[in-house]
Amino acid sequence: MADGFNEVPEAASTTRWVYSFGGGAADGDAKMKNLLGGKGANLAEMSSLGLPVPPGLTITTEACVHYYAEGKSYPAGLQEQVDAALSKVETQAGKRFGEAANPLLVSVRSGARASMPGMMDTVLNLGLNDETVEGLATLSGDRRFAFDSYRRFIQMYSNVVLGLEHSLFEEILDDHKERLEVSVDTALTAADWEKVVADYKAAVTRELGADFPQAPRDQLWGAIGAVFASWMNDRAKFYRRMHDIPESWGTAVNVQSMVFGNMGDTSATGVAFTRNPSTGEARLYGEFLINAQGEDVVAGIRTPQALTRAAREEMGESAPSMEEAMPEVFAQFKSVVERLEHHYRDMQDIEFTVEQGVLYMLQTRNGKRTAKAALKVAVDQVAEGLISREEAISRVEPSSLDQLLHPAIDPGAIRDVIASGLPASPGAATGEIVFAADEAERLAELGRAVILVREETSPEDIHGMHAARGVVTCRGGMTSHAAVVARGMGRPCVSGAGEIDIDEKAGVLRARGRSFSAGEVITIDGAKGEVLFGAVKMIEPELSGDFSQLMEWADGVRRLKVRANAETPLDARTARGFGAEGIGLCRTEHMFFDEDRIAAVREMILADDEAGRRAALAKIIPFQRKDFEELFEIMAGLPVTIRLLDPPLHEFLPHTDAEIEELAASAGLDAAKLKRRAGELAETNPMLGWRGCRLGIAFPEIYEMQVRAIFEAACTVAAKGEAPIVEVMHPLVAKKEEIAFLRKLTDDTASAVLKERGVSLDYKVGVMIELPRAALRADQIAEHAEFFSFGTNDLTQTTFGISRDDSGKFLDAYLKKGIIEKDPFVSLDQEGVGELVRLGAERGRATRPDVKLGICGEHGGDPASIAFCEAVGLDYVSCSPYRVPIARLAAAQAALEKKG
Ligand code: ADP
Ligand code: MG
Ligand code: MG
Repeated sequence: MADGFNEVPEAASTTRWVYSFGGGAADGDAKMKNLLGGKGANLAEMSSLGLPVPPGLTITTEACVHYYAEGKSYPAGLQEQVDAALSKVETQAGKRFGEAANPLLVSVRSGARASMPGMMDTVLNLGLNDETVEGLATLSGDRRFAFDSYRRFIQMYSNVVLGLEHSLFEEILDDHKERLEVSVDTALTAADWEKVVADYKAAVTRELGADFPQAPRDQLWGAIGAVFASWMNDRAKFYRRMHDIPESWGTAVNVQSMVFGNMGDTSATGVAFTRNPSTGEARLYGEFLINAQGEDVVAGIRTPQALTRAAREEMGESAPSMEEAMPEVFAQFKSVVERLEHHYRDMQDIEFTVEQGVLYMLQTRNGKRTAKAALKVAVDQVAEGLISREEAISRVEPSSLDQLLHPAIDPGAIRDVIASGLPASPGAATGEIVFAADEAERLAELGRAVILVREETSPEDIHGMHAARGVVTCRGGMTSHAAVVARGMGRPCVSGAGEIDIDEKAGVLRARGRSFSAGEVITIDGAKGEVLFGAVKMIEPELSGDFSQLMEWADGVRRLKVRANAETPLDARTARGFGAEGIGLCRTEHMFFDEDRIAAVREMILADDEAGRRAALAKIIPFQRKDFEELFEIMAGLPVTIRLLDPPLHEFLPHTDAEIEELAASAGLDAAKLKRRAGELAETNPMLGWRGCRLGIAFPEIYEMQVRAIFEAACTVAAKGEAPIVEVMHPLVAKKEEIAFLRKLTDDTASAVLKERGVSLDYKVGVMIELPRAALRADQIAEHAEFFSFGTNDLTQTTFGISRDDSGKFLDAYLKKGIIEKDPFVSLDQEGVGELVRLGAERGRATRPDVKLGICGEHGGDPASIAFCEAVGLDYVSCSPYRVPIARLAAAQAALEKKG
């Protein structure tokens, strides 16, 4: 079994691989999670607290790291240290491992630094064999119990260590039950279980050509090896990737003396939370089972019972609660769990077992909880004097707030899943199926709720996405156009639902053998990535109470300002409602796609000369002015950064010949000319093409019109009341000469307007730093720019030389192979892109000490990126409206962390 030993030639090292716990003492403590894993560290801590913990030993995570580093061999000295610690356990338990008359049985339990519930393996009742089972029967005076434990062990060990399927054993047990004409396990007698055990062993021999291992020592090392191996199983790997847990941590192994919850009606096993993990309510919460072993509670073989009488009554159940069935043990249990919560100063998730009236504690850890519960527990614990406000701030995971900011599907609702895809943007929405953006807009104007379902989306679909309650795409990943835009707008989105087949001609979508027509009602669950049939019951977000309390505390400690990326009045209002302190990025191109002005935009693009362009721009300016007036009014008293036109002009023209002809016919344009112009503007690589300030330099009249609209709007608003705080931002600047030119254009236009209107107004002119050259020469650029906004979406693209739209195709392979740890479009690449931000900030400040520094783009709402912005001393982050509360909390946590 322990074949690893042979491969380790070096002499026994002095490294300590094993730590003991039990009997009111322990070698380790709760602070040693990295070495002992969470489970081991807390077993040690509980032991030292004098709580009833069955004695045991913990093999360190370092042993696991060694195991994988050295070709799956155990480190020298491990075997001896396990032997020594095991004999200590034997002394404390008064039993001996493998001794027929008085056997010590153990559990072998995995336990990494971070809890990974159910991802790795555990074996119970280890040490049982044909002889020790007789000893257990005699000692306990309960033969049925002994053989029940033995059959559990054979099945668990065979599955975890020998790799046999559970079904093999379940079928055998079912045959016996059928033969005996009984339906529940508890109806089997000692003799029945003996027969089941015999059949189990025969099945193992038949399947493997070798007998079930009888030597307890072989069993032990088999199980230890299996726990190490389970660190690399697919479930564990997947879980680690989802939760950013490094593979290099390894797992610890706990070998612990068994206690038995299956020794009759005064025995039981259960799990408890010191508070309700879904609501946060401050009441003991959990379940237990009489006469059962740990895994039965989760396995769902029998219905567990409530812990407290109040909970039982609330659920209207008749089976007695633990409080009623075993009042004395319950009273002791209650005081233990209260003590644990006070000791750890956080909500605990606890496993326990009662063996013939005696309580044992088997695990405690800080309980996982919903965002709602996290807020309530944190705020309540401050009120109870258990934790400080600063601790409360650090207890809530910023990203989890997402759950609270959007309507969600009622957890109790029935779900008829049509198709599944990626959880691209959280929240839930119900509406009629619509396949085209224009149709979505048309129906929405009639007051109908629609869900836009597209193969994939492009910038021309923006109005439809905005009009829709939610978006579904068949193609595209988490950073696809649909996903990014939907998150920005706060629309729920399921992207990449490849199961869906759209037949736009027939007006149906097909998935999983069913088909649904346009107009039929569906619901999307953006948090889960599912498309459901019909209208499913929802629950609305609730942002008062604990949420606002915690946010108020967070605002009190953060230094970074939080702004929003917003261009529509709705987004701006939402952002302000969520506490945004201004607009950090107003993209003006979205405004050009609007149905009532796209014609003028196209006319401008098709114009042969400057005069023609100016004539077309004159038609657009009233619209732009109105856009800005509204934004300034909504954001009264707060800065508004307006970015001038950024995308290449061909984005505003149709692409296919059919579309061009259709447009020409409907708009009375010359189709041939339209085609020629579209052809001239087409680019091999639009991301690096004629866009950003390159447009403003080639066609100054475009930027001039926009600047004029901005300042005319500002004057109008200023005349009515408070003067707006205007910041004009030039995109994609690389050289100081570009911004020098644009600065002059901006100042000239602004002063002309201000003079016309007789208004005086402060404003700032700045640049978006989104090219490596701009970051490197920030010192020169700062001569003409009063603020920088690091556009880290483009800066990531241009630093890596990766197009975000295409990255989905290969980044996954990079993630899987560990070449990158996180998608750099989701979380800022601090070493590379971040270095440019750091340099840009430093060099910009060297020239202009008060240059205002911010970041916009997806990273502005990512907690890890926000911590980076705090570290390099930026002034603000700007993110989508729905991420504003997340950013506020993350900025507070970053400030606290910096303070230390
Ligand atoms: P997981 O991490 O999946 O919860 P655990 O190692 O905690 O795995 O154990 C699985 C189940 O076995 C739990 O219910 C636990 O309480 C129970 N268990 C573990 N060790 C013992 C033991 N020494 N005596 C009795 N029950 C145990
Ligand atoms: Mg557990
Ligand atoms: Mg950009």
